[in-house]
Amino acid sequence: MTNVCDLAPDYIRAIAPYQPGKPIDELARELGLDASRIVKLASNENPLGASPKALIAIDAAMDTIARYPDGSGFDLKAALADKFNVDAAQVVLGNGSNDVLEMAARAFLSSATSAVFSEHAFAVYPLATLAVGATGITAPAKDYGHDLAAMLAAIRADTRMVFIANPNNPTGTLLSNADMLAFLEQVPSQVIVVLDEAYGEYLPQELQSDALIWLARFPNLIVTRTFSKAYGLAGLRVGYALASAAVADMLNRVRQPFNVNSLALVAATAALNDDEFIARSYALNQLGMRQLTQGLHLLNIDYIPSYANFLAIRIGNATAMYRRLLEHGVIVRPIGNYGMPEYLRVSIGLAAENNQFLQALEDAIKD
Ligand SMILES: *Cc1c(COP(=O)(O)O)cnc(C)c1O
Repeated sequence: MTNVCDLAPDYIRAIAPYQPGKPIDELARELGLDASRIVKLASNENPLGASPKALIAIDAAMDTIARYPDGSGFDLKAALADKFNVDAAQVVLGNGSNDVLEMAARAFLSSATSAVFSEHAFAVYPLATLAVGATGITAPAKDYGHDLAAMLAAIRADTRMVFIANPNNPTGTLLSNADMLAFLEQVPSQVIVVLDEAYGEYLPQELQSDALIWLARFPNLIVTRTFSKAYGLAGLRVGYALASAAVADMLNRVRQPFNVNSLALVAATAALNDDEFIARSYALNQLGMRQLTQGLHLLNIDYIPSYANFLAIRIGNATAMYRRLLEHGVIVRPIGNYGMPEYLRVSIGLAAENNQFLQALEDAIKD
C-alpha cells in the first residue's frame, strides 16, 4: 500500500519541524505542578504582558470579529508608514513576522535557487527556505554571531536571498551599523537581504539600527520587525516588513488575503505608539539582564553577551540541565537544534522570575 507521506516532495520530508518553548500548562500537566508557580523564560516574551493600550483597543474591537478583518491592514500600515516615514506601499503585514519571512521566501526563492543564513541563526530561515524547495547554505559563525565576510563568500550564482537576524536569536549577538552597511554595499544586487530586527526595541538609543535609512538606497533590502517581543503581542501574531514598494508588492502577491486578524490589527496599531510601555519594557530588560549576568557570575557560569531580551548560557550537558530546571518549575530553551548543545537560552523575566531561575539553577547544579 502506498504511504501517502512518501508522496510529499523530498525537500518537505527533509524538514526538521520547529521546536517551540514548552507551554506552562503542558509542564503543569506533566509534572502535576501548580501552573501559577511555573516560570516560563523560554520564548523571549515580554514579562510585563501586553501594551495596556493594545488591551483597551482589543476590548473595543470585540464586537467586530464576526466580520473579516481589513485585508489591506489600512490603519496599521498607515500608522507604521507615519512612524517610520515610509510610504504605506512599502509596508507588508504578517501573521507574525514569521509570516513575512515565509512570504519573502515564497516570492523570491524556488527549487532553482539558494538562500544563505548563518550557523546559530534563527531556525525559521532554513524552514522558510526548504519549504519552497530552495537550497539552504549555512555560513559559519564567528564568536557565535554572524560572520558577514563568510556570508558574502557563501553567496553563489543561484543565491537570491540572505537572512540576517540583528540582534540574533538565540545568541543575542549584534552587528554594527557600519558592518551591516558595508555588507549591503557588497551584496550582489540580485540577492535580497532580509534583515530581521525582531529585538530592535531592546537596543539602546546609540545602537539603534539605521535600516530605515538604507531602505531608500538598497532596493534589495527587506527589514522585518514584530509586535511579538517588546510590544508583548506574541499570542496575537502580528509583524511586518518594510521594503521598496516594488518588493512589497511581490510579497503581497503571496500573502493570504486576511493574514492578520482584526484584534491583532487594532492592538498593534494602538501599541505602536505606546512609547511609555516600550520604555518600561526596555528598562526592565536592562535591569533583568544585569540581575541575570551578575547571578551567573556568582555561579561561575559562562554566557554569550547579549543585546536582546535573552541570554545563551553555557551549561555543559544542557539537555540534562533543561530537564532538571523543568522539575524546579522553570522552563528555558535548550538550543541543541541551533548547533549549540552545551547552551540553554533563557529569556529575561520579571525580577522575581529571574530570581526563581537563578535559584533553580543553583539547586540543580547541586543536585
Ligand atoms: C521571535 C522572533 C521573530 C518573531 O516571530 P513572530 O512570528 O513575529 O512572532 C522573528 N525573528 C526572530 C529572530 C525571532 O527571534
